[in-house]
Amino acid sequence: MKQPPSGMTEECGVAGAVAPGRQAARAVFFGLFALQHRGQEAAGIASSDGRAAYIHKGLGRVAQVFDEDNLGPLLGELAIGHNRYSTTGATQLRNAQPHLVETALGPLAVAHNGNLTNARRLRRELLEAGIGFSSGSDTEVMLRLLALPAEGEAAGDPWLTRMRRLMERAEGAYSLVVLTREAVYALRDPWGFRPLAVGALEGGGFAVASESSALATMGAGFDFEVEPGSAVRLDREGYTVHRLVEPQKRALCVFEFVYFARPDTLLDGQEVHAVRRRLGAELAREAPAEADVVVGVPDSATAHALGYAEAAGLPYAEGLIKNRYIGRTFIEPDDALRKSGVRLKYTPLASVLAGRRVVLVDDSIVRGNTAGPLVRLLRSAGAREVHLRVASPPVRHPCFMGLDMATHEELIAHNLDVAKIREHVGADSLAYLSHAGMMRAVGGGRGFCDACFTGRYPVTLEAGPAGADALVGEG
Ligand code: SF4
Repeated sequence: MKQPPSGMTEECGVAGAVAPGRQAARAVFFGLFALQHRGQEAAGIASSDGRAAYIHKGLGRVAQVFDEDNLGPLLGELAIGHNRYSTTGATQLRNAQPHLVETALGPLAVAHNGNLTNARRLRRELLEAGIGFSSGSDTEVMLRLLALPAEGEAAGDPWLTRMRRLMERAEGAYSLVVLTREAVYALRDPWGFRPLAVGALEGGGFAVASESSALATMGAGFDFEVEPGSAVRLDREGYTVHRLVEPQKRALCVFEFVYFARPDTLLDGQEVHAVRRRLGAELAREAPAEADVVVGVPDSATAHALGYAEAAGLPYAEGLIKNRYIGRTFIEPDDALRKSGVRLKYTPLASVLAGRRVVLVDDSIVRGNTAGPLVRLLRSAGAREVHLRVASPPVRHPCFMGLDMATHEELIAHNLDVAKIREHVGADSLAYLSHAGMMRAVGGGRGFCDACFTGRYPVTLEAGPAGADALVGEG
């Protein structure tokens, strides 16, 4: 299980299924299981059997939250689910998703990956219209908007009319799965910030998931990605695609390629692992080092390190061993252990490192809390030199589109230049991949959000970057 880089919690994962003649919640469980890396604070599944809706949510990882006793009662051929990371404050069960309410059209449940940048304004408008809220989350804003009748909804599918209204008003990132009595819907914001993939289930029916790789775990193939500005309606008969609003200039989160997504996920038809190797190769061309061996920070920077080693003509070796079971623990380490920081997660391999000049490749540096201890760890195992190479540009700006990535002040590259960061982490040399190099590796012509590197946000931040108008982002 990969861990977020220091200072960056992961975003959320969503999944949904329509499984005629079978229990959809079971497929969704496995989808969430495959998306565990996108959120480990809470998990939940809501289902519908056409008469009633059922829900179970809990704190912790998917395998901690669900067992046969609580999965069994999630009846029905339709289900959606969510993995959550917490953004601010304590992890609270009331913030776990999906959110479920009863409406005049029957049950409505929503699970969200992303973050609305105009949630506060929408919430204020709803409050003034007499709509109450039970949380401060942007997901509930979307749920309440969907629960409100829309003009002209009597003709056709009323949910699609309401979803169009939602998409006309919401700004920011949202890949949503929505459960109603008759169908599961998958919606993607007009910018396409976060991924969302659909595929046919073995044995009939359809599945949707944040990442294509999770579809296989659900027993589905991968058919297509939901287009920005569109909704896909999945029901017992099949699926229909609805362009609800015009897509905006495309802005897929480039960090999905750098770090977030699983290596076996396909984004825009590109395998994430292959892109990561290209990021490493670009880095090797831009920032070579006189060294004996290339080591990646496991597991998230392994592919980048392989790409670097290949392009540099240097041997790649596992110089750091990661505890696979580190995960989230509710047991806090004592002070001495906390100070040793990365030792909880990584141990160095002296046979690889002793007496060697090492290139240490990481995918990104956010706060800069981990890089220094890692460099020291390599030196403690006898590394003669440590040359730190980062396979993305310096992160200088926070994310307001679904990544809880610290504030400007907490970002080390916002405060220090590269020379000072090198000093801070104690490496013999430090180099980041250039923005142009990153764009070459990801296929830059396709349109990406790269705001955390450039400060150019694809959506308006109502209160400006320093105080973006976002409520608690839950997804
Ligand atoms: S600001 Fe960075 S992390 Fe956030 S959506 Fe844009 S590229 Fe992704």
